[in-house]
Amino acid sequence: MKTLSEKQALIKLRALKNDFRTLIKQTYEHRAKDCGTCETKGACCLDAHFVNVHITQLEAGLIRRELEKLSPAKQSEIDARIAEAIEKYELKPDGDTFAKTFACPLFEKGAGCLVHAVKPVPCIQHACYERREDLPPDELQTATEQKIERLNEQTYKKHPRWLPLPIWLQSQNRER
Ligand code: SF4
Ligand code: SF4
Repeated sequence: MKTLSEKQALIKLRALKNDFRTLIKQTYEHRAKDCGTCETKGACCLDAHFVNVHITQLEAGLIRRELEKLSPAKQSEIDARIAEAIEKYELKPDGDTFAKTFACPLFEKGAGCLVHAVKPVPCIQHACYERREDLPPDELQTATEQKIERLNEQTYKKHPRWLPLPIWLQSQNRER
């Protein structure tokens, strides 16, 4: 398997997410409800009974770099929200991590998703569709996540762990 530096892998990951976003937008999203006119904007990100977005180490790195474009004060505020979410929703790096749900600490009222350009694959795929048959097929998300796993393996030489977004982001913060 070809080895990648973290820098190379992050460039590839960003491109992969861009391609996936374009595919979803052009092929499916026109049949979904318009988020711009949504009367419950952000419900999809803040519903603590619904959100269980998981990411890998490489994605956490990409999201961290996106957050670093914000002011130091805003970054501290987000780090506090991440810590708060971990505590409040009892998120852990082990056990059945998919069983726990949380309100995403990266959603900002008025601004929306703070990492829109690099958001996780399930977030790109998600939209509110009236008809079930209009939804993008799950296989699309699975195929993209498999590519992300491969990028992680090429970079860190091991199969990646999928962990709740706040857990990976907090651990990346400590490492940097
Ligand atoms: S995905 Fe659905 S709930 Fe979320 S902002 Fe868009 S329309 Fe509203
Ligand atoms: S990462 Fe962004 S799009 Fe995904 S749940 Fe969090 S705020 Fe919403």
